Amino acid sequence: MPSPELLEEAERQMVVCNACRYCEGFCAVFPAMERRRSFSGGDLTYLANLCFDCRACFYACQYAPPHEFAINVPKLFAELRADTYRDYSWPRLLSSLYRRGGLAAGLISALGAAAVLFLVFLVRGPEVLFSAHVREGAFYRVVPYLAMVLPALAMTLYGLAVLLMGTIRFWRDTHGSLGELFDPRAFLRATEDAFSLRYLAGGGAGCNYPDAAFSHARRWLHHLVFYGFLLDLASTTVAAIYDHFLGWTAPYPLLSWPVALGTIGGVMLLIGTGGLLYLKWRSDEEPAEGRMAAMDVAFLALLLLTSLTGLLLLALRDTPAMGTLLGIHLGVVAALFITLPYGKFAHLFYRYAALIRNAIEERADAATAD
Ligand code: SF4
Ligand code: SF4
Repeated sequence: MPSPELLEEAERQMVVCNACRYCEGFCAVFPAMERRRSFSGGDLTYLANLCFDCRACFYACQYAPPHEFAINVPKLFAELRADTYRDYSWPRLLSSLYRRGGLAAGLISALGAAAVLFLVFLVRGPEVLFSAHVREGAFYRVVPYLAMVLPALAMTLYGLAVLLMGTIRFWRDTHGSLGELFDPRAFLRATEDAFSLRYLAGGGAGCNYPDAAFSHARRWLHHLVFYGFLLDLASTTVAAIYDHFLGWTAPYPLLSWPVALGTIGGVMLLIGTGGLLYLKWRSDEEPAEGRMAAMDVAFLALLLLTSLTGLLLLALRDTPAMGTLLGIHLGVVAALFITLPYGKFAHLFYRYAALIRNAIEERADAATAD
């Protein structure tokens, strides 16, 4: 749980907002707040994870600093979210990665790439690392199949286990029964909200990011990142099916499903992450929170590096640079997967759970009104 001081400050701000209610049409947070008369730690954690950080309530607020009430809901909720990601992950030692998101991501990427290149150099020899490989199975001549697949599988399962257990603990602390988490109607509604980034659209004019002006830039760039990531996931899945069930080994032709999906997804990720990093660099710091901003930058930078090294690997796969690029790409991908449960990626799980709770509460409201 967040510190008692932070919870006390969050409760103070929510009591002011609950009396004011000026922002009730901005997003799902304010109607959810109005359903409550008092705010437990679980309530505040839920509200914070329902917030998309659109910042509309900061620029509209007549009680924002320098007013003595000092209401700054986006910053307050960002602090609570950073605590959520830290508190619900395990083990404790690794969850401290949240505090040093950028440093950890950079170090793990560099160490991962160096380790892969060193091992290939040592075990396969420099002639394999620095030669061109063009035939079927070219990548596996540099890094053997099992050395590539087994760590990736282990890291994915580990990350999923940490995030799912964290989500269940989050759900229990926000007063939910496990059965409700799998409520199909609420799940569908949450999926619709998440896939459309509904609450980054504001009232239709967009959100107030990177500054007070309304803009749809963040929403569209986030869409590019999210759907680019999904396309890359689809590319990896199709490649795995080709390899395991059809016996077709990579590298695949340019006009094949794994390459086409991977290339389109990679370009979308590159544009989306580059654009979001640019917006972050330009964004107003007053409604921002330091730990969350560091986490955002680390995650975006790792996604950008993953897509960049992946696209470079595709472009130069028939040249002697392939071995070195493969080592660097695998190192960056390893850093991305190791830090997934301890960085910004976690917001996908906690926000989804908050959207499910919101859908359940809205349905109960509608039933009462009927
Ligand atoms: S953020 Fe400010 S304007 Fe909005 S409800 Fe709270 S106190 Fe009122
Ligand atoms: S920042 Fe946006 S999403 Fe978050 S509480 Fe304010 S208006 Fe709602």
